[in-house]
Amino acid sequence: MRPLLLPAEPPPPLFKDLAVEPEEARSILRPQKDERYGFGFALSPYRGCGHGCRYCYVREYPNALHPPEDWGNWVAPKLNAPELLWGQRHRLHGRRVFLASATDPYQPLERQYRLSRRCLEVLLLCPTTEVILHTRSSLVLQDLDLLQAFGSRLTVGISIPTDDDTVRQVVEPHAPPIPSRWRTAERLAAAGVPVVLGIAPLLPVHDPLAFAGRALACGASGAWVGRLRLLHPDPFLAVLLAHGWGHVLDPAYLEEIRSAFQRAFPLRPGRNPEGRRRPAPARHPGPPAEQPGLFDLPAGA
Ligand code: SF4
Repeated sequence: MRPLLLPAEPPPPLFKDLAVEPEEARSILRPQKDERYGFGFALSPYRGCGHGCRYCYVREYPNALHPPEDWGNWVAPKLNAPELLWGQRHRLHGRRVFLASATDPYQPLERQYRLSRRCLEVLLLCPTTEVILHTRSSLVLQDLDLLQAFGSRLTVGISIPTDDDTVRQVVEPHAPPIPSRWRTAERLAAAGVPVVLGIAPLLPVHDPLAFAGRALACGASGAWVGRLRLLHPDPFLAVLLAHGWGHVLDPAYLEEIRSAFQRAFPLRPGRNPEGRRRPAPARHPGPPAEQPGLFDLPAGA
């Protein structure tokens, strides 16, 4: 494996008061049924997320130690995630694995812990497993060599929920800027890594047609538009209303943006709306027999 390619951009700052709480997890694969992709697993190498997006629905998940208002102020790296995954590899034949449904696998701590990379190294050895990564961060580029090694069985999703970075500064103040996400998508696509854009959760957009055109021009193979989900009640509603952004909750607005993206990314035969190939029948060649070169980076290295 070649040396890591570190992004040229400076890393986004960690929260000043971020509490890092390393832990040993009991399990690592969470079964999921997605109507678009079929059965698969969600894999989260971290609990909590240093990006701390103000709308994040994960903040409501039950947590004995942290109330929802603490979301973004703590992260628990699952130190044994790669080893747990290796022990569960027999469950992965012909399945899809999604990193991650409850955290960003390339949040700033990944620079230090490399848990997502080490989980990807395990998944690379499972030849019938498809992988969907989803991130907001250019840090994913540090693993470009590994992503390329998957070929077409890995897709990177990049969240770009608005075309306006001033909106991002309000709702995702600790996540990477929007221009950085465009550059990340472009660099991945140029390197041959399949990229799908997640316009989600949909936030205010200045120019829907130009936004969709930009998405196409960056080299993404598809894009999807997802609505904002609020908790009941949700203090984020007051943020939206205070900025005059209540229209993002209007179904007509969602349809307007979806329509702009559907025009830019017409559905291709054999593809789902995100531009990914439709599921192929699973093959079962058996689990990888060896574990070459894994786990050679100690956690925290
Ligand atoms: S990056 Fe994703 S998981 Fe992290 S806070 Fe934002 S929405 Fe939540």
